[in-house]
Amino acid sequence: MSVKHSNISIFVPHLGCPNMCSFCNQHYIARTEKVPTEQDIINAVEIAKSSKNYNPSTTEIAFFGGSFTAIERDMMISLLEWANPFVADGTVCGIRISTRPDAIDEEVLDILARYGVKTIELGAQSMCDRVLTLNDRGHSAEDVINASILIKQKGFLLGLQMMTGLYGSSAADDIKTAEQIIKLSPDCVRIYPTIVLKNTRLADLVGKGEYEPQTVDEAVRLCTRLKSMFDEACVPVIRLGLHTIDETAYIAGPWHPAFRELCDAEEFKNKISRGLKEKGCYEVFVNPRDLSKAKGQSKSNIDYFSKIGYNIKIIANDDIKINDVLIKGCE
Ligand code: SF4
Repeated sequence: MSVKHSNISIFVPHLGCPNMCSFCNQHYIARTEKVPTEQDIINAVEIAKSSKNYNPSTTEIAFFGGSFTAIERDMMISLLEWANPFVADGTVCGIRISTRPDAIDEEVLDILARYGVKTIELGAQSMCDRVLTLNDRGHSAEDVINASILIKQKGFLLGLQMMTGLYGSSAADDIKTAEQIIKLSPDCVRIYPTIVLKNTRLADLVGKGEYEPQTVDEAVRLCTRLKSMFDEACVPVIRLGLHTIDETAYIAGPWHPAFRELCDAEEFKNKISRGLKEKGCYEVFVNPRDLSKAKGQSKSNIDYFSKIGYNIKIIANDDIKINDVLIKGCE
């Protein structure tokens, strides 16, 4: 999948989703969100076309927000009919949707294919049935496996979205989920640490002291580990942490506006740690594009190593490949 991929995002509220997942406040939000109209889609495409980075061959119209294939059928087809002309005339390269694993079958996939849907993202929050049940997901890990296989068989690109730190989930459960997801060979994944929002069951559980979300540090450490598992398996991680949240709805959990950058810095901290020997002074060479990741936010990595007895100097060097480090002891 191209790194330059971009989405023209159309938010589809909780239309018809039969569930009440523990972390989801879509039922609450959907009361105030309006259903997109044909004109909304036309306007969103026009805005995207006026961007200097617009590239029709890497842009998809993306229906995000609810469970697209669980929407009342006539409405789902209307949305596809409104988006399809932009696929047909080459304005975008396809349509992207997100949905639930148990809202996928051959019949609905055939409809999606007819209208130019290219990529299907599934909420596969956990591959542990106990965690899925505890969080009221209403489907099993087997549903994720079956839907993923069907989506790939029908020639769509597959995206899987997992969460960390759900109610009842441990770091070991989340690592097992990543292992199971890798076995399904998705074309991309998104990793979201669980954030507790108002008007959700998780908010009630936090209120009763029955659930403690991850801290930012815990989520960064775990997500960095998961990302390296996906990197090794050559599965692109296209999102790490929520981009933005409605701050008025936030109750608890590891939200940080630069969560991905924190994970990038943690990854470099781990790489540098592996290359250090006895305490002392080291020069760490990195590609110029990795300089700020290697230093960490506000030089957090340099400070971390200094506290444990390593004086490290991070130096940009064009000969070093992106994501690599070369470590030399100071003379
Ligand atoms: S399936 Fe998706 S939209 Fe429906 S309640 Fe769960 S998270 Fe929310």
